[in-house]
Amino acid sequence: MAAPLQLRDMRFVLYEQLKAPEAVGLDEDTMDALIDAGATFAAEFLAPINAEGDRVGCTRHEDGTVTTPPGYRRALDRWREDGWGGMPHPEELGGQGLPQVLVSAMDEMVIGSCCAFHNYTGLTRACANMLVRRGSPEQIETWAKPLISAEWQGTMCLTEADAGSDVGASRTRAVPIEGDRYRIEGEKVFITSGEHDMAENIVHIVLARVDGDGPGVKGLSIFIVPKFRLDADGKPTIPNDVFCAGIEEKMGIHGSVTTTLKFGENGGCEGYLIGERKQGIQIMFDIMNEERIVVGQQGQALAATAYGLALKYAKERIQGSSIEKGKSITQEKVPIIVHPDVRRMLLTAKAQGEACRALLYKTGLVLDRERLAEGEERARHAALAAFLTPICKAYGSEVGFQACSTAMQVFGGYGYITEYGVEQLVRDARIACVYEGTNGIQAIDLLFRKVARDRGAVLQAVLGEIGSFVQERRGAAGGALDAELEVLAARAAQVGDVAQTLGGRIAQGDLAGAALGATPFLKLVGNLLGGYLLLEQAFIAEDELAGLGAPEASAERRAWAGEDEEKAFYAAKVETARFFVHQLLSENDWLAAQCSTADRSALDAALEPLS
Ligand SMILES: Cc1cc2nc3c(=O)[nH]c(=O)nc-3n(C[C@H](O)[C@H](O)[C@H](O)COP(=O)(O)OP(=O)(O)OC[C@H]3O[C@@H](n4cnc5c(N)ncnc54)[C@H](O)[C@@H]3O)c2cc1C
Repeated sequence: MAAPLQLRDMRFVLYEQLKAPEAVGLDEDTMDALIDAGATFAAEFLAPINAEGDRVGCTRHEDGTVTTPPGYRRALDRWREDGWGGMPHPEELGGQGLPQVLVSAMDEMVIGSCCAFHNYTGLTRACANMLVRRGSPEQIETWAKPLISAEWQGTMCLTEADAGSDVGASRTRAVPIEGDRYRIEGEKVFITSGEHDMAENIVHIVLARVDGDGPGVKGLSIFIVPKFRLDADGKPTIPNDVFCAGIEEKMGIHGSVTTTLKFGENGGCEGYLIGERKQGIQIMFDIMNEERIVVGQQGQALAATAYGLALKYAKERIQGSSIEKGKSITQEKVPIIVHPDVRRMLLTAKAQGEACRALLYKTGLVLDRERLAEGEERARHAALAAFLTPICKAYGSEVGFQACSTAMQVFGGYGYITEYGVEQLVRDARIACVYEGTNGIQAIDLLFRKVARDRGAVLQAVLGEIGSFVQERRGAAGGALDAELEVLAARAAQVGDVAQTLGGRIAQGDLAGAALGATPFLKLVGNLLGGYLLLEQAFIAEDELAGLGAPEASAERRAWAGEDEEKAFYAAKVETARFFVHQLLSENDWLAAQCSTADRSALDAALEPLS
């Protein structure tokens, strides 16, 4: 069964809200054709392998090789044949040169159909992007091109047993051989796609320390470490002493293999330096920043699928009678979608998912603008992208996971049963809060590096944009959304106040006090952006509704909107925005209080004894 992709809302965000075709110079028909092709690929090759991949998982054999679940190879073969691997890459390198905003939409369809499969292709794409930007011409030719064509696959290797969030504690060594060639020795853990049967070579991008280059992240360099080195004909036939010593049993994404890799156990592992020595972490950040957005999208896309399943179920499941008609057993039984609490759950998942979609696609467009601009304008887009990245990652994954869980609740007990598919989405979504830098680390990045370091300049620009939006739209649509605009304005002011408070703590050297507020602060900002983007959508929808002749009174409008899908879609956009602004944004009072309180018990509390 195909995943319930939300193609209408995807197109709404791309064309009606972001006006992506004009912004990136790619016409709507071409974008549409690609979206249709992507949806077909996802329905034919990915959705059918998702549940079985979850059940069967990956298998490691004694010789260290790994077999992926049934259907994965076939899907990757087709991915390769169709050229999906090269979506964003330059055409002269065999890519399609597509804008990031469109790649975000394609990612949503792939992830929403089979998240585990996306881990192979998403990482490969990020490795190729990094090599195109940072590699030497020879490295681009030799290593990036086969990643772009998806002939080979890529990994990112940072984590070690004692170096997780603390990447600077890495112990993997690099010993110079000659030129850019180094001998690599060490063990990396939790490496996604570290070994599998879907490509003739795997290009590991590895952080390692050259002896004498000093401690911490600043002493790290970055290397291309292939599974197979190339022979005289340029074919990957020479084993490079990279051994998969184990794979993890885990909660979700069972089709995505998570490996322990031993590099150079027998002294025969070569790596090729990218860039200069000690530039490792900066260069790795090219991959990490891209992947952070992708991981946020994992939350969003899984939430979209979960919502689609829950909506269908809620329309079909008959249980109880309408609360408005009393509880008598003689009353007509109703589908659960009639119950107010079920509607609340559905609208919560819908609103959260749509807010995250808008945020992620918008961030994709900011990246496109950065690429297309020059000078100061480019720097402005880059700063905005840097600000949005931890929010996309942590907000997208956390809210996406919550939305999956809420959607599961709609199913009652059946949601907990494998057959219905939604419990897999909850399990698959959970990892997004953890990998690619935990959400706690994202929150610290946002507060300390993306807000405090520039004294809130980017945040102020974002709040200014929201302020202008409120001013411009007051009274528009016959004032129908004025109340929501006032809430948004107040919420924006609240974010400004909280940022001042936390910034003040940082300025006074109370770093622990500020850090206590980091996670609620990220959610506070994420919610604000979600409310802003959904309200922007509501105004677009109001215009369309007026054009379609919608009645103003809400009761009449509801009946009118039921007449066809387009009317219903736009009417729902307005209601979804209202719900988000009045109900979900109210969480910001609670979050702001957590950030601003003088209470420091979390720092002071004695956490023991336990008994
Ligand atoms: C399925 C899976 C796939 C993965 N894929 C890859 C991969 O492909 N490549 C790769 O390199 N890694 C990968 N990872 C590793 C992943 O990125 C790390 O697990 C993650 O970064 C956290 O590191 P850790 O597990 O060591 O936790 P720790 O760093 O030990 O963190 C434990 C807790 O402490 C918190 N914490 C730690 N330090 C701080 C701090 N300074 N301030 C505040 N809080 C802190 C964390 O937020 C977390 O809650 C993967 C992990 C999993 C589970």
